[in-house]
Amino acid sequence: MIITIQNQVSSEERSQLETLLDQVTGSHRQTISTMMDEREVIVLDESQLDTQALVAISQQHAVERVVHIKTQYQLVSKAFKTERSSIRVSDTKNSQAVIIGGSDTAPVVIGGPCAVESREQLLSTAVAVKAAGAQILRGGAFKPRTSPYQFQGLGIEGLHYLKEARELTGLPVITEVMEPEMVEIVAEYADILQIGSRNMQNFPLLYGAGRNSFHRPVMLKRGLSATIEEWLLAAEYIVSAGNPNVILCERGIRSFDTQTRNLLDLACIPLLHDLTHLPVIVDPSHGTGRRELVPTMSRAAIAAGADGLILEVHQDPNSALCDGRQSITPGQLQSIVRETQIMNQVMESITNHSWVA
Ligand code: PEP
Ligand code: MN
Repeated sequence: MIITIQNQVSSEERSQLETLLDQVTGSHRQTISTMMDEREVIVLDESQLDTQALVAISQQHAVERVVHIKTQYQLVSKAFKTERSSIRVSDTKNSQAVIIGGSDTAPVVIGGPCAVESREQLLSTAVAVKAAGAQILRGGAFKPRTSPYQFQGLGIEGLHYLKEARELTGLPVITEVMEPEMVEIVAEYADILQIGSRNMQNFPLLYGAGRNSFHRPVMLKRGLSATIEEWLLAAEYIVSAGNPNVILCERGIRSFDTQTRNLLDLACIPLLHDLTHLPVIVDPSHGTGRRELVPTMSRAAIAAGADGLILEVHQDPNSALCDGRQSITPGQLQSIVRETQIMNQVMESITNHSWVA
């Protein structure tokens, strides 16, 4: 349940509520106090509370509103917040603000290399990504690779190039953070922090992204074989730790079939829009692992209601140090940006019309 605290609460009223919560919740239960839409909220699992305790809580002076939520994830749930969250990316003087999510926002296109390979590669790709019409630049400086013998990324050096690319193009940048200790450093360079699939349940990292990222938006990729509920609970960790700016990214899940790298779960988009107010974007690059499938799955993602796409782009995909097989060229990116705009118009006209005769 989520308890919204009155705006002008006295310290006695506040401590009365706390004493009551201590009494009714056992010592092993977590009660989390955080800010949500500029209001203080207290969140707890109410499943073990009896009716008497629930009534006593709702009658406290400090309490403005109590929302009972049936799911384990609470702050991210539609039951708590019915309108879709729109997340503002970057207001710094070096980059243009972009909005992701919300009800009337056009889908955003994020493009760039899987990995930052060199200054030259990143800067020239950034210029090409901007010219293709994408609004955000991606590029991994820290790469979680399956084998320790593969290119691991340029690390901090890569972050410097990302900053330079932002200054050059005005595009906000997104890059991955892999360790809790690195959250603050990466947040100094990046406009959006990416938490990769392999780290979706790295709880100290989720907590760090909630606490230490200066409220930078966090794009949380779905775990390799994570259920929707596990994914939303991972998002709940970030939000309950103090950062409401979470964007979910569907990037395909493991399947038995090896024809595609992953199984892109497009059904999760409308489902997530029912379950959560958080924006949902789709990564058809990792979702398919094959560049020839990326344009079609990009269109399909927009048709299914995605708030945006994240695409791997390389000027010479066959020589990419990472994920070349699924990378498209800047020219292909330009077509996808155009098709995304058209698909969005089509989707708007479908939702605004009643086709029943
Ligand atoms: C990536 O975006 O390059 C990446 C490593 O993605 P994922 O975590 O989805 O595998
Ligand atoms: Mn990649």
